[in-house]
Parts: sequence; structure tokens; C-alpha cells
Amino acid sequence: MVLIGITPELDMHNNCYKLNQSYVEAILTSGGTPVIVPITSDIKQILSILANLRGIVLSGGGDPDPFYFGEEPLQTSGPINPFRDQFELGLAKEALALQMPILGICRGCQIMNIAAGGSIYQDITHISNLQHTQMAPRWYPTHYISIEAGTRLFNIIQDNKIRVNSMHHQAIAKVAPDFAVSAISSDSIIEAIESNNGKAIGVQWHPEELLDTHGKKLFAYLVRESEKTV
Ligand code: MN
Repeated sequence: MVLIGITPELDMHNNCYKLNQSYVEAILTSGGTPVIVPITSDIKQILSILANLRGIVLSGGGDPDPFYFGEEPLQTSGPINPFRDQFELGLAKEALALQMPILGICRGCQIMNIAAGGSIYQDITHISNLQHTQMAPRWYPTHYISIEAGTRLFNIIQDNKIRVNSMHHQAIAKVAPDFAVSAISSDSIIEAIESNNGKAIGVQWHPEELLDTHGKKLFAYLVRESEKTV
């Protein structure tokens, strides 16, 4: 089975990793072998890790440092994790260059877009009144998204309107070159992007919490694409 790396959160206060088990279950039940990728900024180590992986899940987490897309931090920007930022941006850049299959989830979608030269909104509550930081449980879909016909995402989900969960206060602003928007919410916030070669998919929602419905399709796609790259 193909090895799929999942990036963890680094808890800086306790100096330990954190990862929601749902990400692991999502890969396990999709026929891949999940491994948690250790956090390092050493690019030689990152390349060595990538040489042993066939696909990547960039997991959710806190806000990326706006420095990386050329902005000063706003009052409403969240806590920054310099170690995780440097590691994931390096990993994403190298994985994109290798055309490795990537599924970017929430923060992971934003990291991928920044790594590829795009930017994000530091706080979408300034531009939208739709509840993107839902009060419902994580596994419960709360808002609709429209999926663009003809995109890879549409191919995967096979539906043009679905309900998703929403646990984000940031979103894609400038879409990176070589990427396109594949889904938006009713307030026109970008909810999904994909690379033009179809290898990298980024979603703003959390499919690992929606495995009983359309969430599973994204992980199955990642595993299928990863098997092709062996
Ligand atoms: Mn949302």
C-alpha cells in the first residue's frame, strides 16, 4: 500500500505533536498507509521524507504567518507557529515541484496556495457575514458550496452543490498561478482550489470529519492518484 504523509500540529508549549485521529482513519479506510511526517525545516530531510512518500495530506491548524504572503498581521490574525509554517511551506513547495498528489485541508489548503505564490484573507469576518466558524459539531455540515462544473473536484464529488462543515476564519484571497478555483460558498468565499495538473486539491472544509458522505471521496482520490505515482 502507498505511504501517505500527514502533517501534524506542533504544540509549542508542550513541545509535542497533535493530530486528529480522523485524518489517520480517512487514509486507513481509503486503502493507503498513513504516516505522520516529522516537523523539520532542513530541506534535505524534507526531500528525503518526500522520496519515501507517494502522497501528502496537509492537515488543518492555526493561521499561517502573513509575512509569507507579504502582509503585516491584523488584530484578528491568530497565533503563529513559525516551526510549522516553515516546515509545511517547504514541504508543500517541494511536493508541488515533484507533482506529488496533495490534499490540503483548511490551513493545508491555504499553505498550499501560499507555497505556490498566492495569498489568503487574514480574517474573512471583515468581508462576510456567513458563519464559517460553525457552532455545530465538527462532523455536521452547516453551509452549502457550489462546485464548478468541469473541475477535478466536480469529477471527484459528482455533484455541483453540497453541504460542508466550516471551521475557518481565513480563506484564499489571490489564487496561486497554476491553480484554479473549484468551489465557492454562497458569500463567494473560495472553498476549494486545484492545481491545473489536477494533482493538488485544496478544500477549506474538513472532509476527514465527513467520511460517511462525500468526505471519503477526496481521500479515495488522493490514494488512487498516489498509487499512480509509484
Ligand atoms: Mn466555509
